[in-house]
Amino acid sequence: MSFSSQIQAVAYCRTPYKQKFGIPRQPGLVNAARGFVELQAPYNDIDTVRGLEQYSHLWLVFCFHQNLAQGWKTTVRPPRLGGNEKLGVFATRSTFRPNGLGQSVVKLHKIHQRRGYLALEISGMDLLDGTPIIDIKPYIPFSDSVPDALGGIAHEAPKLTKVEFSQDAKQQLASYEGLEQYQHLEELIIGVLAQDPRPAYKKAKADPKIYQVALYDLDILWHVVEATHAHAKNNDSDS
Ligand code: SAM
Repeated sequence: MSFSSQIQAVAYCRTPYKQKFGIPRQPGLVNAARGFVELQAPYNDIDTVRGLEQYSHLWLVFCFHQNLAQGWKTTVRPPRLGGNEKLGVFATRSTFRPNGLGQSVVKLHKIHQRRGYLALEISGMDLLDGTPIIDIKPYIPFSDSVPDALGGIAHEAPKLTKVEFSQDAKQQLASYEGLEQYQHLEELIIGVLAQDPRPAYKKAKADPKIYQVALYDLDILWHVVEATHAHAKNNDSDS
Protein backbone atom coordinates (compact mmCIF):
# COMPACT_ATOMS: atom_id res chain seq x y z
CA MET A 1 0.00 0.00 0.00
CA SER A 2 1.46 3.32 -0.78
CA PHE A 3 0.06 6.61 0.45
CA SER A 4 0.66 9.88 -1.21
CA SER A 5 1.50 12.35 1.44
CA GLN A 6 3.12 15.71 1.45
CA ILE A 7 6.29 14.40 3.08
CA GLN A 8 8.89 17.06 2.47
CA ALA A 9 11.99 18.47 4.12
CA VAL A 10 11.15 20.89 6.94
CA ALA A 11 14.83 21.72 7.31
CA TYR A 12 18.33 20.86 6.09
CA CYS A 13 21.18 19.88 8.35
CA ARG A 14 24.53 21.68 8.08
CA THR A 15 27.31 19.53 9.50
CA PRO A 16 31.13 19.30 9.29
CA TYR A 17 30.75 15.98 7.42
CA LYS A 18 31.14 16.64 3.69
CA GLN A 19 31.41 12.97 2.72
CA LYS A 20 29.96 9.78 4.21
CA PHE A 21 33.35 8.24 4.99
CA GLY A 22 34.25 9.25 8.51
CA ILE A 23 30.75 10.05 9.79
CA PRO A 24 30.18 8.15 13.07
CA ARG A 25 27.84 5.15 12.78
CA GLN A 26 25.43 6.57 15.34
CA PRO A 27 24.84 9.93 17.05
CA GLY A 28 26.44 10.74 20.38
CA LEU A 29 29.77 9.12 19.43
CA VAL A 30 31.55 12.34 18.37
CA ASN A 31 30.07 15.18 20.41
CA ALA A 32 32.61 17.73 19.15
CA ALA A 33 30.68 17.73 15.85
CA ARG A 34 28.58 20.91 15.88
CA GLY A 35 25.98 21.77 13.25
CA PHE A 36 22.74 23.53 12.47
CA VAL A 37 19.25 22.38 11.54
CA GLU A 38 18.19 25.21 9.22
CA LEU A 39 14.41 25.34 8.97
CA GLN A 40 12.91 26.07 5.56
CA ALA A 41 9.84 28.19 4.78
CA PRO A 42 7.06 27.89 5.90
CA TYR A 43 8.51 26.02 8.92
CA ASN A 44 11.04 28.73 9.72
CA ASP A 45 8.43 30.55 11.80
CA ILE A 46 9.69 30.96 15.40
CA ASP A 47 6.32 29.69 16.61
CA THR A 48 7.13 26.21 15.26
CA VAL A 49 9.86 25.81 17.90
CA ARG A 50 8.16 27.68 20.76
CA GLY A 51 9.01 25.71 23.95
CA LEU A 52 11.65 23.54 22.29
CA GLU A 53 14.35 25.26 24.40
CA GLN A 54 13.00 23.33 27.41
CA TYR A 55 14.52 20.13 25.98
CA SER A 56 18.22 19.26 25.96
CA HIS A 57 17.96 16.74 23.12
CA LEU A 58 15.99 16.31 19.92
CA TRP A 59 15.00 13.48 17.62
CA LEU A 60 15.82 14.26 14.01
CA VAL A 61 13.92 12.17 11.45
CA PHE A 62 15.76 12.50 8.15
CA CYS A 63 16.30 11.09 4.70
CA PHE A 64 19.46 9.22 3.67
CA HIS A 65 19.31 11.34 0.55
CA GLN A 66 22.66 10.28 -0.84
CA ASN A 67 21.62 6.61 -0.83
CA LEU A 68 18.07 6.88 -2.20
CA ALA A 69 19.08 6.16 -5.79
CA GLN A 70 20.60 2.76 -4.80
CA GLY A 71 17.25 1.51 -3.41
CA TRP A 72 17.12 -1.21 -0.74
CA LYS A 73 17.49 -4.96 -0.28
CA THR A 74 15.75 -7.37 2.11
CA THR A 75 19.06 -8.23 3.77
CA VAL A 76 22.18 -6.17 4.42
CA ARG A 77 25.74 -6.89 5.61
CA PRO A 78 26.23 -4.74 8.75
CA PRO A 79 29.78 -3.29 8.89
CA ARG A 80 29.86 -4.24 12.58
CA LEU A 81 29.83 -7.92 11.53
CA GLY A 82 32.76 -7.40 9.17
CA GLY A 83 30.54 -7.44 6.10
CA ASN A 84 30.26 -11.23 6.24
CA GLU A 85 26.94 -11.91 7.90
CA LYS A 86 23.57 -10.90 6.45
CA LEU A 87 20.71 -9.49 8.56
CA GLY A 88 17.25 -8.29 7.58
CA VAL A 89 17.18 -4.60 6.67
CA PHE A 90 14.72 -3.96 9.54
CA ALA A 91 17.11 -5.65 11.99
CA THR A 92 19.75 -3.02 11.26
CA ARG A 93 20.27 0.73 11.04
CA SER A 94 21.27 0.35 7.40
CA THR A 95 21.29 3.51 5.33
CA PHE A 96 19.65 1.67 2.40
CA ARG A 97 16.00 1.40 3.48
CA PRO A 98 12.54 1.16 1.76
CA ASN A 99 11.71 4.78 2.55
CA GLY A 100 15.28 5.90 3.19
CA LEU A 101 14.52 7.30 6.64
CA GLY A 102 16.94 7.69 9.53
CA GLN A 103 16.50 8.91 13.09
CA SER A 104 19.08 10.41 15.41
CA VAL A 105 19.07 11.93 18.87
CA VAL A 106 21.18 15.10 18.98
CA LYS A 107 21.96 17.67 21.67
CA LEU A 108 20.24 21.04 21.30
CA HIS A 109 22.52 23.97 22.18
CA LYS A 110 20.73 27.10 21.01
CA ILE A 111 17.93 28.39 18.82
CA HIS A 112 19.15 31.06 16.39
CA GLN A 113 16.61 33.40 14.87
CA ARG A 114 16.93 36.46 12.69
CA ARG A 115 14.84 37.81 9.81
CA GLY A 116 13.85 34.85 7.65
CA TYR A 117 16.38 32.56 9.34
CA LEU A 118 15.64 30.00 12.05
CA ALA A 119 18.18 27.37 13.00
CA LEU A 120 18.73 24.89 15.85
CA GLU A 121 22.38 24.62 16.88
CA ILE A 122 23.07 20.95 17.64
CA SER A 123 25.95 18.56 18.32
CA GLY A 124 26.75 14.84 18.18
CA MET A 125 24.97 14.22 14.89
CA ASP A 126 25.78 11.38 12.45
CA LEU A 127 24.46 13.22 9.38
CA LEU A 128 26.04 14.19 6.07
CA ASP A 129 26.09 17.93 5.39
CA GLY A 130 22.89 18.90 3.55
CA THR A 131 20.77 16.01 4.87
CA PRO A 132 17.04 16.75 4.50
CA ILE A 133 15.22 16.75 7.84
CA ILE A 134 11.69 15.34 7.65
CA ASP A 135 10.69 15.95 11.28
CA ILE A 136 12.04 17.35 14.55
CA LYS A 137 10.77 16.10 17.91
CA PRO A 138 11.79 16.68 21.53
CA TYR A 139 13.57 13.73 23.15
CA ILE A 140 11.52 12.49 26.11
CA PRO A 141 13.78 10.52 28.49
CA PHE A 142 11.09 8.70 30.47
CA SER A 143 9.72 7.04 27.34
CA ASP A 144 12.52 7.25 24.74
CA SER A 145 15.25 5.79 26.93
CA VAL A 146 15.03 2.07 27.83
CA PRO A 147 18.19 1.37 29.86
CA ASP A 148 17.62 -2.41 30.13
CA ALA A 149 16.77 -2.90 26.43
CA LEU A 150 18.67 -5.60 24.47
CA GLY A 151 20.94 -4.06 21.82
CA GLY A 152 21.41 -7.05 19.52
CA ILE A 153 24.55 -6.68 17.39
CA ALA A 154 24.85 -3.06 18.55
CA HIS A 155 24.94 -3.78 22.30
CA GLU A 156 27.89 -1.45 22.91
CA ALA A 157 29.54 1.62 21.39
CA PRO A 158 32.39 0.88 18.96
CA LYS A 159 35.83 0.49 20.61
CA LEU A 160 37.93 3.66 20.27
CA THR A 161 41.33 3.82 18.57
CA LYS A 162 44.17 5.93 19.99
CA VAL A 163 44.84 9.01 17.81
CA GLU A 164 48.16 10.90 17.65
CA PHE A 165 49.00 13.99 15.61
CA SER A 166 52.23 14.12 13.60
CA GLN A 167 54.52 17.08 14.29
CA ASP A 168 53.44 18.50 10.93
CA ALA A 169 49.76 18.23 11.84
CA LYS A 170 50.37 19.79 15.27
CA GLN A 171 52.23 22.64 13.58
CA GLN A 172 49.39 23.18 11.12
CA LEU A 173 46.75 23.13 13.86
CA ALA A 174 48.78 25.68 15.82
CA SER A 175 49.56 28.04 12.95
CA TYR A 176 46.69 27.72 10.50
CA GLU A 177 45.01 31.12 9.98
CA GLY A 178 41.28 31.08 10.67
CA LEU A 179 41.08 27.69 12.41
CA GLU A 180 38.78 29.25 14.98
CA GLN A 181 35.97 29.17 12.36
CA TYR A 182 35.98 25.37 12.69
CA GLN A 183 34.37 24.70 16.02
CA HIS A 184 36.25 22.18 18.22
CA LEU A 185 38.35 21.07 15.20
CA GLU A 186 41.08 19.16 17.08
CA GLU A 187 38.51 17.38 19.27
CA LEU A 188 36.45 16.62 16.16
CA ILE A 189 39.44 15.11 14.32
CA ILE A 190 40.30 12.97 17.34
CA GLY A 191 36.65 11.91 17.76
CA VAL A 192 36.25 10.92 14.11
CA LEU A 193 39.57 9.08 13.76
CA ALA A 194 39.09 7.32 17.10
CA GLN A 195 36.08 5.61 15.49
CA ASP A 196 38.52 4.18 12.88
CA PRO A 197 36.15 4.68 9.91
CA ARG A 198 37.85 1.99 7.79
CA PRO A 199 35.78 -1.06 6.77
CA ALA A 200 35.99 -3.82 9.40
CA TYR A 201 37.92 -6.24 7.13
CA LYS A 202 40.81 -3.74 6.95
CA LYS A 203 41.27 -3.54 10.70
CA ALA A 204 42.72 -6.96 11.40
CA LYS A 205 46.05 -6.40 9.65
CA ALA A 206 48.64 -3.67 9.12
CA ASP A 207 47.39 -1.10 6.64
CA PRO A 208 49.94 1.31 5.06
CA LYS A 209 47.30 3.26 3.10
CA ILE A 210 46.95 7.03 3.63
CA TYR A 211 43.28 7.84 4.26
CA GLN A 212 41.53 11.16 3.91
CA VAL A 213 38.48 12.46 5.77
CA ALA A 214 36.73 15.68 4.71
CA LEU A 215 35.77 17.79 7.73
CA TYR A 216 34.40 21.27 6.98
CA ASP A 217 36.51 22.32 3.96
CA LEU A 218 39.63 20.58 5.25
CA ASP A 219 41.11 17.28 4.06
CA ILE A 220 42.43 15.43 7.08
CA LEU A 221 45.04 12.88 6.02
CA TRP A 222 45.73 9.96 8.35
CA HIS A 223 47.14 6.47 8.42
CA VAL A 224 47.10 3.57 10.83
CA VAL A 225 50.42 3.10 12.59
CA GLU A 226 49.58 -0.36 13.81
CA ALA A 227 46.47 -2.47 14.08
CA THR A 228 45.54 -0.57 17.29
CA HIS A 229 45.74 3.18 16.57
CA ALA A 230 45.49 5.88 13.88
CA HIS A 231 47.98 8.71 13.31
CA ALA A 232 46.72 12.04 11.98
CA LYS A 233 49.37 13.16 9.49
CA ASN A 234 48.35 16.61 8.45
CA ASN A 235 45.36 18.55 7.30
CA ASP A 236 45.36 20.37 3.99
CA SER A 237 42.70 22.88 3.29
CA ASP A 238 40.88 22.60 0.03
CA SER A 239 43.03 25.40 -1.33
N1 SAM B 1 21.24 7.25 13.59
C1 SAM B 1 20.63 7.03 12.29
C2 SAM B 1 19.68 5.82 12.35
O1 SAM B 1 19.93 4.95 13.17
O2 SAM B 1 18.74 5.78 11.55
C3 SAM B 1 21.65 6.83 11.22
C4 SAM B 1 22.53 5.59 11.38
S1 SAM B 1 23.45 5.28 9.93
C5 SAM B 1 24.32 3.81 10.23
C6 SAM B 1 24.70 6.55 10.08
C7 SAM B 1 25.41 6.67 8.78
O3 SAM B 1 24.53 7.17 7.78
C8 SAM B 1 26.56 7.65 8.79
O4 SAM B 1 27.74 7.02 9.28
C9 SAM B 1 26.69 8.00 7.30
O5 SAM B 1 27.60 7.11 6.66
C10 SAM B 1 25.29 7.77 6.73
N2 SAM B 1 24.61 9.00 6.34
C11 SAM B 1 24.45 10.10 7.11
N3 SAM B 1 23.73 11.04 6.43
C12 SAM B 1 23.44 10.49 5.21
C13 SAM B 1 22.74 10.94 4.06
N4 SAM B 1 22.17 12.16 4.02
N5 SAM B 1 22.64 10.10 2.99
C14 SAM B 1 23.20 8.87 3.03
N6 SAM B 1 23.89 8.37 4.09
C15 SAM B 1 24.00 9.18 5.16
